[in-house]
Amino acid sequence: MNCLSEVVEVPERAFLGLVEGYLSGNYRLYLVVEELSQKKTFSCKEKGCGKPFDAYPPDDEHVIPRLESAEGAVDRTYKCPEGHENTIFWLKGAGHAFLTTHR
Ligand SMILES: [Zn+2]
Repeated sequence: MNCLSEVVEVPERAFLGLVEGYLSGNYRLYLVVEELSQKKTFSCKEKGCGKPFDAYPPDDEHVIPRLESAEGAVDRTYKCPEGHENTIFWLKGAGHAFLTTHR
């Protein structure tokens, strides 16, 4: 017997169609839910700009954003929609703890 077992990442738009396709066939489906790093929105610090831009934490540990440098912080530079560079300093935080409570 051929056993097909695979994990595929499915784009949002194709999800329902694909699920229905499998359900009408002889397949058992598992749903794996994975939370993405939390996106945070900032305002550009350039005078007279203030446009919002999105920034993702650099990893699962450094999740607390600061606008000033701090010890142990990881800095990342982001561009607002107008192209101004904004540096965010990410501090270690406990933000990832709740993601592992199911272990
Ligand atoms: Zn700007």
